[in-house]
Amino acid sequence: MTSNPKADMDLQHVRALVISCLDNAGVSRVKVLPGPKVEDAFHNGCGISVSVGVLLAVDDHVTRSSPIDPIVGDLRGMPDRSAVTVVDKASGLAWAPADLVDMHGVPYPTCPRTALKRVAAEWAEAELEVSAGFELEFTVFSGTQDAPVLAHDGPGYGAAAFLQLEAWHLDVLAALVEAGVPVEQIHPEYGRGQVEIALAPRNPVQAVDDYLLARFIVSRVSRKHGLHVSYSPIADSRTATNGCHIHFSARNREGNLFYDPAATTQMSPAGGSMIAGVLGRLAESVALLGGSALSVARLQPQQWAGSFICWGTGNREAAIRFVPGPKGYEDRQSNVEVKCCDGSANQYLAVAAILAAALEGFRGRLKLPAGVTVDPGTLSQTERESLDIRTFPPDLLTALDDLEGSNFLCTALGHELLDAYVAVRRGEAERFAKLDRDAVIDALRWRY
Ligand code: GLU
Ligand code: MG
Repeated sequence: MTSNPKADMDLQHVRALVISCLDNAGVSRVKVLPGPKVEDAFHNGCGISVSVGVLLAVDDHVTRSSPIDPIVGDLRGMPDRSAVTVVDKASGLAWAPADLVDMHGVPYPTCPRTALKRVAAEWAEAELEVSAGFELEFTVFSGTQDAPVLAHDGPGYGAAAFLQLEAWHLDVLAALVEAGVPVEQIHPEYGRGQVEIALAPRNPVQAVDDYLLARFIVSRVSRKHGLHVSYSPIADSRTATNGCHIHFSARNREGNLFYDPAATTQMSPAGGSMIAGVLGRLAESVALLGGSALSVARLQPQQWAGSFICWGTGNREAAIRFVPGPKGYEDRQSNVEVKCCDGSANQYLAVAAILAAALEGFRGRLKLPAGVTVDPGTLSQTERESLDIRTFPPDLLTALDDLEGSNFLCTALGHELLDAYVAVRRGEAERFAKLDRDAVIDALRWRY
């Protein structure tokens, strides 16, 4: 394993290591090991039951997914030494993402991080370099978790909103930078209480590791300020929804596949095929890109949430937005944004699904249909049909049926993984369908 420049401190000074596994419910489950156990943990991992590692739902219900036995047997969470990060030198707190392995150290078939590594390896075999990056939106609250109050009053992107939380913004930035998280910017978002952090692109597994670490750090710093953060897609019915937009770009020896100055689309045919690949698999993937009982409800028109299945250059209402880089940075920055994703996903799986579909499109040289140049919500149903603009499944159960029926995703991720994921999310969908919207919002607000 490579050494990690972020963890430049002597691990002997670590007093506690937080080992984080992102589960099928999109929840980061942790085990915390004391300093003297840290070195050993990189060889031996820490104990994680199958029920906790694979079958827990967001409400901590233990799901059944045959043939996985939730009672008998154990797994290990194997922290990745190359990704260990010292979160706080003063208190000796370190953090590491983990793979799920069996008792022999073999990757467990349902391990999401391992699934993404497999997909990333296929890109490398195709001699393509792929990067992924995240835009995390979240809602900041003051008050208590039982009586939360939106922590800024806007205006969207406003200096006043920044100043209302200035000390918090500065501490969040400082903590992210100290931990080596490649933060590009932080700003008050459109909604009251809402903030966004953009992370720079990097290799896909590292990108998701950083995303998880960023969330951990933001929550930790917020608590020190008496604030609470929600990554739920709908954290509060009085403010804007939270997306977690996923960007990706691809390079071959000649450069960025999403930049071709000679092409009218501004991208190479290979880049176009990648977008076509993702577009074609979006409906069956959407339960992986969100997956909570609120995720489909977030996909509303005119919220910039990407609620229409189509693509467009710069189009914020298209699920896939092609983002050409600014002049002089075209080769470095041109990329693709998938907007129909949110913070309740298991992002290892969400990125794996997107990248597997992009690679499928590339290999099959799929032809990209014309991009949509207007807000699809302003078109009539007939006009949308003529442009092949589709809508997402109407609810989570239908989206899960589409996911379960996807041979493509079953092959890409493995059937044990897909079966367990669908079982966990289907259970959530069924249980939360019995509650009204506000009760679901309350139930999910602090879970992610
Ligand atoms: N908040 C919107 C969402 O739910 C996204 C707004 C934006 O484009 O930044 O996805
Ligand atoms: Mg945003």
